[in-house]
Amino acid sequence: MGNAATKTNYASSTSMSKKKVCIIPIGTIDKEILHYTQKELEDRFNVKIDIGRQLEDPIYAYHKHKMQYHSTKILKRIHKLGLTGYDRILGIVDVDLYVPERTFVFGEAVIKKKIAVISLTRLRQKFYDLPEDLTLFKKRIIIEAVHELGHTYGLRHCTDNRCVMFLSKILRDTDHKGAAFCSNCKSIMEDKKAITN
Ligand SMILES: [Zn+2]
Ligand SMILES: [Zn+2]
Repeated sequence: MGNAATKTNYASSTSMSKKKVCIIPIGTIDKEILHYTQKELEDRFNVKIDIGRQLEDPIYAYHKHKMQYHSTKILKRIHKLGLTGYDRILGIVDVDLYVPERTFVFGEAVIKKKIAVISLTRLRQKFYDLPEDLTLFKKRIIIEAVHELGHTYGLRHCTDNRCVMFLSKILRDTDHKGAAFCSNCKSIMEDKKAITN
């Protein structure tokens, strides 16, 4: 049902050449966070952003010894949706993610498929037993979302630790780098007409 409606909307708006990104909540994600992310990404990228139908909790990706979720399996689940009408997809999940090579990840992207996922779990102060800070939490979400979306435009990790495309190994890296592209990454994005300003 939701799909049919999406297709109709898309068909009626094909005259608009604006690219589209779909944010997919995986499990329950706070509505305010979803809308905030939607707006912030629309301000930064030259895209129209929709919020898609919520997917089930990713129990299929759960590793019971690690007590974490394999992010690549979540990306595969998103890919299997076969969503049409979107150029890129960004999943948002609130479980702790890992890939076999790393103890945890803030997110993951498949560059060729233009699919990405971010996790909110380690972006909260609470995760580190610190007092909650909603402003900081939201700031971190945008940094990670811009980073993973950046990958879907073909950007690789950047060596500039103030660039959003720098690989965050720990949260301090995220807080240090911020949500802006360095001049190099920015010019790649500009060439693709991928960003505003
Ligand atoms: Zn990355
Ligand atoms: Zn860069």
